[in-house]
Formats: sequence, structure tokens, C-alpha cells
Amino acid sequence: MRIRVEAAAVWPGGEQGWWTPGQVTWSANRIESVGPLTGEAADVDRVIRVEDGLVLPGLLNGHNHAAMSLMRGIADDSPLMEWLTQHIFPLEAHLTSEDVYVGTLLSCAEMIRGGTVGFADMYFFVDAVARAVETSGLRGWIARGLVEADDPGGEKLAEAVEFAHRWRGRAEGRVVGMLGPHAPYTCGPRYLERVAESAKSADLGIHIHLAESWQEVQDSQQRFGLTPVELAARAGILQSRVVVAHGVHLQDQDRKLLAAAQGGVVHCPVSNAKLGNGTMDVVRARREGVTVGLGTDGPASTNTLDMFLEMKAMAWGQKLLHRDPASFQAVEALRAATEGNAQILGGVSGRLEPGAPADLIVVGTRGTHLTPVHDWSSNAVYAATAADVRYTICNGVVLMEEGRLLTIDEEAVRREAAARARALIDRSR
Ligand SMILES: [Zn+2]
Repeated sequence: MRIRVEAAAVWPGGEQGWWTPGQVTWSANRIESVGPLTGEAADVDRVIRVEDGLVLPGLLNGHNHAAMSLMRGIADDSPLMEWLTQHIFPLEAHLTSEDVYVGTLLSCAEMIRGGTVGFADMYFFVDAVARAVETSGLRGWIARGLVEADDPGGEKLAEAVEFAHRWRGRAEGRVVGMLGPHAPYTCGPRYLERVAESAKSADLGIHIHLAESWQEVQDSQQRFGLTPVELAARAGILQSRVVVAHGVHLQDQDRKLLAAAQGGVVHCPVSNAKLGNGTMDVVRARREGVTVGLGTDGPASTNTLDMFLEMKAMAWGQKLLHRDPASFQAVEALRAATEGNAQILGGVSGRLEPGAPADLIVVGTRGTHLTPVHDWSSNAVYAATAADVRYTICNGVVLMEEGRLLTIDEEAVRREAAARARALIDRSR
């Protein structure tokens, strides 16, 4: 099956500008050609023509806890530790594998609606997460969350490695297992070393929260004389591919360590703002060689999985931090959400180029809030929202067509998720 999308504008990523109008053609799951639209399509089985459409590489969400959609809006606006220990942890203690499946599937539906084709997740019941990813048609870099206190014998770490091996190559290669040591304040240096050794010997990437709050950095320096990034580096965590969530409070030496590592930092501006943690200096990190991606964090902290909102927040945050509107350009947010995340996660390119996986989205630009078009990048980042996405295509498969989800029974999932969320609260009382 050879499919071609023809649209008003195509941005392939990288340094290339927009083709207006443009086309993307793919066969099976690989892109064959992308470029300006010239002449009629020949030898294609299907043409998707969106005359007001804007085509982007599929967005990637570099940091998520997708199943936490079941806890969306619970105890918002309370201090972080109170929110975690009094509200989230007691509920998580009662979660079942099927809750995690349904919660993740609900998030997959939301992500497909918002033009996200893949996400990096850290949670437990990872087989349920992987099943939801398999069903949805999305890509998932799935890390089993690990906390030292829950894993005195190392069985959970062994299970995490076993999960990654078992899913390798399944779901057309859309599921990639990783190890997810939660953070240095929940995993001590010895435990982090064990995780790092397992990652190296099993050739797995690592997903970890580092330097999310200033308190965390201060505590780490007081306790160990090291920043969280230095502590992770000392334990060997940066010797494998590493997905560092947040990195809000990076020091000079942290940026140096991260610039030399494979992977990078996934910036989560909405979560960091909502939890009052501050803003990562993306401009400086990039200047010093750190790869920067973009993510939402879990829907219990960010409330939505709208990567268009994250792109806006990323740009606003840098302009606020530097008190300079020219410090960050719209196209840089697009790059972070596509090839920035791709470089961090591995296995995909985040660009529309021949030979790359056919992961792309079409955003409708007929909306009142998108009229007129003076600058396509500006409209895509500063004006478009998740609700404007009309087609989401992952691995060559159309997952959403004209706003209709093709792999998930959305209404059934919504109903079941709401019922499970209510039952979860009843059980935990
Ligand atoms: Zn997180």
C-alpha cells in the first residue's frame, strides 16, 4: 500500500524550511519521498488531500506516566510532597493491571488526537502499558519505574530487564523497554549502580527524573556533596542511553556531563510551572551541547497531554527567563518535540525523510484562530492546539482520520476509565 498526503504546507524537520504546497509519500511503514507538490500522484493506492493542511513529523512525548490519567485533577494546587504522599501514593497502592491498561489507553487516545505518535513512559504494570501501546498503534519507550525501598532483593529490576527482552521486536518494533530508576532521592547510589550495570549488560536505555526541584539539588549536595546529575553519572547511569526528565536546575558540571552522554534532557515546562519548580534554561543547555526534548509529564501533574501546549510553554518559558523574545524561535520548539525527542529516545528520526518511519500528522488550518497564515511555524506553535490535528499516522498506519480514531473505541475507553477512576477512589478510602 503506497499512500501520499498532499497538503498546503509540509515541514520535514531539520534545517529545511516549509514546502508550500508539499507532499509526503510512504509505502508500508517507510517514507519514500517528501518535498514540494508537483504534478499528479502516480502509482499510489491512496491520496489523502488536505487543502488547508499543515504536515509535521509526528510529535513525540519524551516523558509521561500515561496511566495517571485516572488521577487527572486529583488534589491539584497542593504542595508536591503532600500531593504525592497523601493523594497519589495511596491511590497507586490500589491500582490493578487492568486499571493501568485502561488509563494508558485513555492517554493513547488523547495523544493520537493531539498528534503524538510515540511517548516515553515510566510506570508499573508495564505489560499493561505495552498492551495499550500495541492496541493503539503508537510507539512506546516503556520503563518500569523502580524505587529502592520496594526492591530490596532486586527482583523488580530483574523483572524490568525481563520485560524489555520479552517485548523486543513485538508490536512491529513499536515497543522499546527501558529501565526506570525513579530518581536519586528514591534510589540510593548503590541501587543506581546496580541499575546502571543491568542497563549496560542488557543494552537498555534508562529513564530517570533528575534536578526537578531546587530542594532536590540542595538535599543531594548536602547529603552526598554531589548534584543529582553528578550522582547519577558517578553511579554509571550516563553510560547508557539516558532520558533525563526535567533537568530544571542544572549546574555547569551537569551540562558538561549531559552533553557527553547519549540521550539528553526532556524538558517538561507545563509540569514544572504547575508544580512551581521553575524553568530549565534550554537556551544555555543547547548552547553547551545538551540534546533537549520535550514532554508533558504524567496527566496527574500536567492534566493534559497536549504537546502543542508544551511547545508554547517551552517558548514562553525561555523568553521569560531571558527577558528576551528573540531568545527562542518557534521552530526550535517544533524541533524539540520531534527530532530532539527522537535523538534522546533512539530508533526513530523525528524527521520526514526518505527511509525514515512514516510517522506524520496533518493539522487543519481552517480554524478562525489559525487565520491568516503569515508564518507556518508561528501558526503551528503559537496558534494551533491539539484539537486542530486531523490525521495522525504512525509507522505508516493511519490512527486518526478526519478526527476519527481508528484503533481505539474512544467512547468505551472514556466510560471505562471514568468508572475505574471512581472505583479506585472508593477502594482506597
Ligand atoms: Zn515524571
